[in-house]
Amino acid sequence: MLRKPVARIDVLALKHNLARVREVAAGCKVLAVLKANAYGHGMLKVAEQLQQADAFGVARLDEALALRAGGIVKPIVLLEGFFDADELPQIVASNLQVVVHQQEQIDAILAAELDAPIRVWLKMDTGMHRLGLPPEHYQAAYQALSQSPNCVPGIRLMSHFACADDLECPDTTEQLQRFSRWSQGLSGEISLANSAAVLGWPQSHGSWVRPGLMLYGVSPLLGKQGDEHGLQPVMTLRSRVIAVRDVAAGETVGYGSAWQAQQATRLAVVAIGYGDGYPRNVPNGTPVLMQGRRFPIVGRVSMDMLTVDIGDAIIKPGEQVVLWGQGLPVEEIAALVGTIPYELLCNITPRVDFVYE
Ligand code: PLP
Repeated sequence: MLRKPVARIDVLALKHNLARVREVAAGCKVLAVLKANAYGHGMLKVAEQLQQADAFGVARLDEALALRAGGIVKPIVLLEGFFDADELPQIVASNLQVVVHQQEQIDAILAAELDAPIRVWLKMDTGMHRLGLPPEHYQAAYQALSQSPNCVPGIRLMSHFACADDLECPDTTEQLQRFSRWSQGLSGEISLANSAAVLGWPQSHGSWVRPGLMLYGVSPLLGKQGDEHGLQPVMTLRSRVIAVRDVAAGETVGYGSAWQAQQATRLAVVAIGYGDGYPRNVPNGTPVLMQGRRFPIVGRVSMDMLTVDIGDAIIKPGEQVVLWGQGLPVEEIAALVGTIPYELLCNITPRVDFVYE
């Protein structure tokens, strides 16, 4: 029996979540976001399972090329765009689409000699102030690109929200208003909504939605969990108990002797640690699941192991332990660590085996 961490990827849950996107954003096309190794789930395998999506989105050229090399033929959008004119022939040859978000890219496209035109998603900075053209430059950029033979007719219009995860935040409405004001009169398919906007801001759905996190069954909305939106967790991170031992009252456990038993305590040592991507800074008491019950982590998480107080449960070496996923939402662990589920999912290291079933 393997006593090492395994990330089980539930392919039916993945498909279910895509169907859920289609239900919530009825009539919209879906650009499934697969960047960062599909949020840690395995980019190529996820792409193969999401054949019902209309397009895929990745951040970078090497991610897109890896998808093409893996046989993915669906449209792929480079969400960060490109940075040098000499990337354009490769983009054309691999039939990739690009987000254009700054003037240098426009100049490069207009000046290029290409074998075929490129599909452009023209991004407006409506308030995120990360990528995107200033709204007042948007119309001119659109005109210039739409007259260029280097662009496929039908420029797509896009922007990205800064605070869509917070349904109380007025910024999203302001961003929406800015977008509609400065794109007025332009024709083209519109794409604004990430997962949070798919779920929380229906007025932003437009023609294309761009979900990432919700495809993986995780809630993008503050204080919520995926099942509240009808989503199913895709990754279940699990490992096995490799030792069971008793410590007497007053003894300390693990590095830094950071936890001290207040009474005689039985511990299970679990084969997972920060070397696998499990966060080192979980507080004492963070739950794991064994035999369908929650048990608290005690002491510091080390590189390959962590320790769990098993009380009087009958747990033996080899017992399966769930760190997050089915029955233990990753949203809950992220909140305990003071981070977001995105980070925990992306941080799984190559040491972890992946099983798709
Ligand atoms: N669209 C763009 C431009 C993004 O950068 C991202 C991810 O950050 C997404 C969509 C998907 O976001 P989420 O995972 O929150 O749905």
